[in-house]
Amino acid sequence: MRLSDLVQKLLSLDGAPFSLKGRPYLAAVYNTLPHRKLLKCGRQTEKSTTAAAIAATAMLIQQGFRVLYVTPYDMQARQFSIDRLSPFINTARLKTELIVDNVKLKKLKNDSSFYARCAPPTAANSESFRGISSDFIIVDELQNMRSDDLPAIEQCISRSKYKWRLFCGTGGTYGSPIASIWYDSTQCEWTIKCKCGHENPIGIDESNISEEGLICSKCHNKLRVEDGRWVAYGRPDALWLGFHIPQLILPNVDFHEICIWQQKYSKAKFYQEVLGLIYEDIEQPISPAVLAKCETDRVNGIQSREQSFIGIDWGMEYRSRTAITVGTFISPSKFSIDYIMTIEGEDALDIDKVISQVIHIVTSARAKYVLADFGVGHQVNLMLAKRLADVGSYLIEALFVGSHSYRYKYENKYRRFQIPRSWCLSFFFAGLRQGRIELPRLDTVPYFKDEILSITAKEGVDSVKYESSTTDDTVFSSALCYFLASYMTGKIVY
Ligand SMILES: [Zn+2]
Repeated sequence: MRLSDLVQKLLSLDGAPFSLKGRPYLAAVYNTLPHRKLLKCGRQTEKSTTAAAIAATAMLIQQGFRVLYVTPYDMQARQFSIDRLSPFINTARLKTELIVDNVKLKKLKNDSSFYARCAPPTAANSESFRGISSDFIIVDELQNMRSDDLPAIEQCISRSKYKWRLFCGTGGTYGSPIASIWYDSTQCEWTIKCKCGHENPIGIDESNISEEGLICSKCHNKLRVEDGRWVAYGRPDALWLGFHIPQLILPNVDFHEICIWQQKYSKAKFYQEVLGLIYEDIEQPISPAVLAKCETDRVNGIQSREQSFIGIDWGMEYRSRTAITVGTFISPSKFSIDYIMTIEGEDALDIDKVISQVIHIVTSARAKYVLADFGVGHQVNLMLAKRLADVGSYLIEALFVGSHSYRYKYENKYRRFQIPRSWCLSFFFAGLRQGRIELPRLDTVPYFKDEILSITAKEGVDSVKYESSTTDDTVFSSALCYFLASYMTGKIVY
């Protein structure tokens, strides 16, 4: 029996049999392989109910099935446990007894169990889920999770024979983990073919919204949700099966209300919360307040660390400068930028001199890996790589690419990363905004403050474009440094 039939046969909701009526898009969500599934949803799109229905059914029909639910905040974990899961189990038509019924732990007589945990994005270390061996992990409100908690959460199913993952969230910003996983997914959109022949993927923009309901974006004829089907717009062989569920395809959705929100909400709020899109419209991605929060009393300079990482943004042309950033993780969730320096003027043009300076920094900072941009510096990179090898360090090159269809790709053969420029900045900005990056006293750092505050973002769906009214080399060298350290210490899996 298919899972979508099974949940309706077994479960009840609000005193009536649980029903998926009017939700044709949910059949595939239930019935596809459960190994890596992502639901990218608008608010109030029943994502927690769906997760709870799958969890409750699996716990009921399988002996000793273990579910781990992780969400950023305690309140959400409680709500899921009390308001979603318990009612399903208590009223199920397959009688079983809850022998333990706590908010954070439930055990059934058939030895199935449920754990609820929270992983706050700001906590120094959230270890509460570590060591919980489970068969099915549900990560909710993914847009607010820290990406470096995800590998640890996934460890919890490493010994299971099921290894189910269901990650859900509301559209977040470009730098959030839900964006990364979405780009790595099949990116399925509920697509309705109009009588005029036009294919309408619903909720990727505002073009199908009218006061009267869904309309074709081309001929403006009315569309019916039940005429839709899932179409994968990402790679069909992607690791993750990704479904986008905007509010627009829910049964009984009030389009008058949707149109009011369209007027009333900011574009970002409407796109993220109603349409469930990854959307970024922050004019100034990093504000002075965010910078002030990250600033420490430490003077800009190399610190005594066990190991550091170095990012370089070359500037080998007239009037440009080379920026070098040294940083390291001082705790699992805190990255310290220790030193940002620039070489400019005549000095920047003397390649031998620049390389000698870099080698000096590398040895003082005990840096094993250096990530340098590819740009105009490939010849310089070859020279630097040779000199680095002499001191037992390695050069990796960063080739900036425009595409956002993947986040980054490591090419072992060339020892280089292909990194979308905006993604690299978004990743760095997200770290600053989440308070995960410490900066030296900014009046001791050349250029950085002015450069980062002069960066503006152009709004975009599923993408963002950064522009700068001045130079941005110290920001780039720092973004490269943070990316390299995160990658090398296994903090970015997605
Ligand atoms: Zn049409």
